[in-house]
Amino acid sequence: MRMQRAIIALALAVSAVGLVIGQGRGGRAGWVTIKDGEECPPGTTEARHLQCAPPASPAPSILDYRPRSTVVADPHLVPKAKFPVVDVHTHGTAAYVNNPARIKEMDDLNLQVLVDLSGGGAAQVKQKVDAIRASAYKDRFRVFANVDWEGAGGAGWQEAALTDLRQAVKNGAIGLKVFKELGLRHKKADGTRLAVDDPALDPIWALCGELNIPVIIHTAEPQEFFSPIDNHNERWLELNIFPQRASPPSIYPTFEQLMKERDHVFSKHPRTRFIGAHFNWYGNDLQRAARQLDTQPNVYLEVAAVLYEFGRQPYAAAQFFTKYQDRLMFGKDTYETSEYPYYWRVFETHDEYFDYYRGYHAFWKLYGIDLPDGVLRKVYHQNSLRVTSGLPQRGW
Ligand SMILES: [Zn+2]
Repeated sequence: MRMQRAIIALALAVSAVGLVIGQGRGGRAGWVTIKDGEECPPGTTEARHLQCAPPASPAPSILDYRPRSTVVADPHLVPKAKFPVVDVHTHGTAAYVNNPARIKEMDDLNLQVLVDLSGGGAAQVKQKVDAIRASAYKDRFRVFANVDWEGAGGAGWQEAALTDLRQAVKNGAIGLKVFKELGLRHKKADGTRLAVDDPALDPIWALCGELNIPVIIHTAEPQEFFSPIDNHNERWLELNIFPQRASPPSIYPTFEQLMKERDHVFSKHPRTRFIGAHFNWYGNDLQRAARQLDTQPNVYLEVAAVLYEFGRQPYAAAQFFTKYQDRLMFGKDTYETSEYPYYWRVFETHDEYFDYYRGYHAFWKLYGIDLPDGVLRKVYHQNSLRVTSGLPQRGW
């Protein structure tokens, strides 16, 4: 009797600590009991309610665990987009301009126009545009200009930047691309961080409105790049394959700060059209993207490098693309022929549970959102043609 009471007292004492190591309910070796709201300890998984079990064999790392899907379903691969496509977000196409092999690749994918966002300043733009105009494929490429933001606010900066941008557009640039370094890395003349909405930049945004060219702007990084890199971070693998992509708060402004600055620019310049690169990093929060499009009519979104966000929430994405079909456009960022068909497959089919092309971006599978033809045409080219008057307007 005394022995029994002692055992009960011991059990109560241990469960008060929260974890029972060694034996869970049912007395299985290695199982651990947790309390509501607690996480299973490392090396275990919740095998029964509040009961954490370790695997019998050592678990493979997240790199090596590549389970085969046993779903049996007909795949509907889409090697060629259903309608011609403008890729509004690519880089470094100078070597493609007179290259019949590239043109053949583009034709096979139904990529009608590539927009090179790395045009540079007026002199570089001239070189690139002249080469395009002299080529046999002059309707297949276009160029956006860039502004050198470094030293903004200093003597003569504004005048020089405005003059160069004006000249770049005269030389054939059809838009302005803003790289993510604005907000993250560029410094003002006084050495402090140059905020995206710094008033010194207002005349640039205003000039783009005046010249009737869109601004495609990439601000910040995916939200998780700003979060602690722990086992809850869904970009853990990417941030460890490319550690320089991390944007810790000790060095960088927060994600929210950057969103606020960028969105402030959109509000300050209602007569300038802005294309949010990478869906403004709102692809994981379509309600936020909807609020933005509802309140900022001069804003458009392009889909470069965020396909994995639509492919993991196919119902919400299909609704979003349908509702905002006049505000969305296609971009890819990296010209890689093997990757474009993943976009076509997500947009054009209702295939389920298929692989994405980059495991470190998304460890989950994709689902098609099966957009109707009218929406596809808008996303693939009609919206970018409307927003960017310098694109070839004929032959669609
Ligand atoms: Zn890019």
